[in-house]
Amino acid sequence: RGMYRYSTAAAYENPIKPPVSVQYDKLLIDGKFVDAASGKTFPTLDPRTGEVIAHVAEGDAEDVNRAVSAARKAFDEGPWPRMTAYGRQKILLRFADLIEKHNDEIAALETWDNGKPFEQSAQIEVPMFARLFRYYAGWTDKIHGLTVPADGPHHVQTLHEPIGVAGQIIPWNFPLLMFAWKVGPALACGNTVVLKTAEQTPLSALLVSKLLHEAGLPDGVLNIVSGFGPTAGAALCSHMDVDKIAFTGSTDTGRIVLELAAKSNLKPVTLELGGKSPFIVCEDADVDQAVELAHAALFFNQGQCCCAGSRTYVHEKVYDEFVEKAKARALKRTVGDPFKAGIEQGPQIDGEQFEKILKYIRIGQDAGATLETGGDRHGTKGYYIQPTVFSNVKDDMPIAREEIFGPVQTILKFKDLGEVIQRANNSIYGLAAGVFTHNLDTANTLMRALKVGTVWINCFDTFDATIPFGGYKMSGIGREKGEYGLKNYLQVKAVVTPIKNPAWL
Ligand code: NAD
Repeated sequence: RGMYRYSTAAAYENPIKPPVSVQYDKLLIDGKFVDAASGKTFPTLDPRTGEVIAHVAEGDAEDVNRAVSAARKAFDEGPWPRMTAYGRQKILLRFADLIEKHNDEIAALETWDNGKPFEQSAQIEVPMFARLFRYYAGWTDKIHGLTVPADGPHHVQTLHEPIGVAGQIIPWNFPLLMFAWKVGPALACGNTVVLKTAEQTPLSALLVSKLLHEAGLPDGVLNIVSGFGPTAGAALCSHMDVDKIAFTGSTDTGRIVLELAAKSNLKPVTLELGGKSPFIVCEDADVDQAVELAHAALFFNQGQCCCAGSRTYVHEKVYDEFVEKAKARALKRTVGDPFKAGIEQGPQIDGEQFEKILKYIRIGQDAGATLETGGDRHGTKGYYIQPTVFSNVKDDMPIAREEIFGPVQTILKFKDLGEVIQRANNSIYGLAAGVFTHNLDTANTLMRALKVGTVWINCFDTFDATIPFGGYKMSGIGREKGEYGLKNYLQVKAVVTPIKNPAWL
């Protein structure tokens, strides 16, 4: 829990408007809020109602050029990469303090633009954002090279240098946390950044970037471009003056990003993509606990998590009881206005995702899965969907293979460990897995056998700044967070000096 001060009820009665000092209809380039070169804007919508919250600048290739020039100049000539590590640390720590000071305004803006429960924004995500920046602030003066032994009269050392201008593209499901996962390590290492926000959720990045400048970030070090993927996003990936791309989003778009980077200047790319993560409930499971955890693993954040436990494999011995209780738990889930207290589930992000999820529910029914509960929209306005549970799901059904990205739990039955390992790994994805067992041998077998970047045993969605995150297979390339996350933003330079006096070898 962070610096949470107001009740959700108070936030609902008196919605907190974004501070006026932020110009939400502008891009942030070279420390200034500026119009898009085309003068165009596009609306960002309130997922509770579909109504317009604000019109934001529609950045395109020309704006990306301006932002990259600013970032290039700030990297090549500016103070940020040249400052002492402690100097950078103090700015990032001041920023984390400002985030905590404005915890609830930031949380309200995030909920307004994204639809996630305000309690989640205020108690988990904004505090976690501050935590991530403090963590990476702590790294600034602990990044250093090595002295390397060589087979000859040479003194060899490595310098760990910032890579340059980092282009970063983030999705809409965790706008603030994705900002922190990307901007935190990039700045700690002394890079400069051009960040493209998701078109559905452009607001919170502008607010926190303003606070980062208040904390002392020099102009041009962080530039924010709102706009669409095929225009602004693609221009960033293709740009010859961008030295690295970090992307989070769908696997299809990840492939495009990699192609654009390869066709331009071969810039290195890290990708955090989709998933279809298994959650395996073993025969020794306490069913009540397993149901609760499997429910959270899937339904958290309206089911809009790349690592959602979206294939619930349950051992045949406990299957019937599990299905009955999973249905009862889904029926109890509180769906409604995310600013109200006690709400577990708000609306989906937009009409497109809403329609896509409803389509998958129809596909599941047509394929012969049993719809235990849910299956339709919740209410009559906004993008709310009923918590939905399917049982009797088979591995080859689209609802068990493809990312639904919504509140739809799919339950599958298994007989033995060898079988569930094979079935869990039979996916193009390999992002995460959940394992529910108190049998140490079973846990040991599964943690080693599963081809995924994260295995949560008797827990799920445990994220901390220190824990690396990323995918096997088509779930991505590279790791973010933790010490591993720094590698994406550093170049290694080997420096070799002859030792003239062999006596000192
Ligand atoms: P997306 O991959 O299209 O969008 C993610 C980001 O990429 C956005 O900022 C977008 O503007 C940008 N982008 C889109 N096309 C681009 C291009 N050609 N070049 C450069 N950047 C581009 O995802 P989406 O359309 O918002 O969602 C579609 C599906 O992706 C979802 O249903 C879900 O399955 C998945 N998704 C996964 C994650 C994740 O965290 N892994 C997040 C969001 C969505």
